[in-house]
Amino acid sequence: MKIYVFSEVFRGEIGDITFEMLGIAKELKEKTNGEVVSILIGKGVKNLKDKFGSADKILILDDERLEGLSPFLYQNILLNILKERNPDLILFPHTAIGMDIGGFVALKLGYPFVAFCKSLNLKNGNLVVTSLICGGKILVDVNLKENKGVCLIAPGSYSAEKGKEEGAKNVEEIPLQEIQEKIKFEEYIEPKIEDIDISKKDILISVGRGIQSKDNIPLAEEIANLLNGAVSGSRPVIDQGWLPITRQVGRSGKIVKPKLYLAFGISGAPEHIEGMRDSELIVAINMDPNAPIFNIAHYGVVGDVLEIMPLLAEEIKKRKK
Ligand code: FAD
Repeated sequence: MKIYVFSEVFRGEIGDITFEMLGIAKELKEKTNGEVVSILIGKGVKNLKDKFGSADKILILDDERLEGLSPFLYQNILLNILKERNPDLILFPHTAIGMDIGGFVALKLGYPFVAFCKSLNLKNGNLVVTSLICGGKILVDVNLKENKGVCLIAPGSYSAEKGKEEGAKNVEEIPLQEIQEKIKFEEYIEPKIEDIDISKKDILISVGRGIQSKDNIPLAEEIANLLNGAVSGSRPVIDQGWLPITRQVGRSGKIVKPKLYLAFGISGAPEHIEGMRDSELIVAINMDPNAPIFNIAHYGVVGDVLEIMPLLAEEIKKRKK
C-alpha cells in the first residue's frame, strides 16, 4: 500500500499529529509491504527533513512564496502532486488546515473521504477505518473500497513516538510552479496571552456545574496550588463567568492531555470528553453513580465535591509535610 502523509508544519514546528500519522502509516506499510511518503510544504521546510526518518521518501516543496498556511494554494499544490503519483491512502490531520485541504483533494481525486479517524486496521486484507461520530459518542467502522481513501486523523489517537525517527532516506525536491493566489498571506497576529495555557499543564483540577457557585472555585485553586497544577472547567462554569474562557476544556475550548485530570462535578458530556479523553490519568468525583464521566475515568468517587475537596487539600498538605 502506497501511503502519503501530509506533514503539518506551523511556523517551523512539526506538530505531534504529523508523527502520529507517520506511525499509523509505518504500521500499515509493514503489514502490506508498502511505502510511506511524507509531503512537506512551506517556506524553510527543507531544514526539517531529518525529522522524517520513518518515511521511505520525503517530497519537499520549499519556497519563499509559501509563507503562511494558505488553503487554496495548498489544495492545488497537493492535488498536482497526488494526481501524478496515484497513492492508495492519503492521511491528513483533522486540524483546521487538514480539514481545508483533505476534503478538496478527496473530491478531486474521486477518493472516499473519512473524517475524525481514530484508528486504521487491516482485517483480512481490507482497510477498516474507525471514525468518531456524534462528537465521539459513537464509533463507526468504515470499509475502504480497494483500500483507497483520504482520511483525516483525529489528533491524540495514536502515539507520536512511533512515528519519530531521525534521518532522511530519500528526498525529492519539487519546484513550485506559477501560482495564482486567491488569498495573500500578510502577517500572523498573535493572540494576547492574558492567562496560563491549560494545554501545557501536567495537572488540571477541572470543575463543572457541580461546584455550585463561583465562591467554591477557591477550593479547586487550593488543590491546584498544592499540586502545582491549574484550574480548568466545563463550559457552564465558563458561561457563568466563574472562570475565564481560556480555562475551558472541550470541543469549543481547549484539547488537553495532562498527566492527571481531576474532574470534579463534571457530568462527562461528549463535548467535554472530546477535550480531555486522552489525559493519562482521569479521576472523577460526582454525586451521580451513573454520570458518563465514570465511563472514561480510571478512578472514580461517588460523593459531594464540596465535602471531598477540602479533605483532599488537607490530605495533600499532610503528605507534603
Ligand atoms: P452538568 O452536565 O450539569 O453536570 C454537572 C454534574 O455535577 C452532574 O453530573 C451532577 O451529578 C454533578 N454534581 C452536582 N452537584 C455535585 C456535587 N455537589 N458533588 C459532586 N457532583 C455533583 N461543554 C464543555 O465542557 N466544553 C466544551 O467545549 C463544550 N462545547 C460545546 C459545544 C457545543 C456545540 C455544544 C452543543 C455543547 C458544548 N458543551 C461543552 C456543553 C456540554 O454539552 C455540556 O452541557 C457540559 O459539558 C456540561 O457541563 P457540566 O458537566 O459541568 O454540567
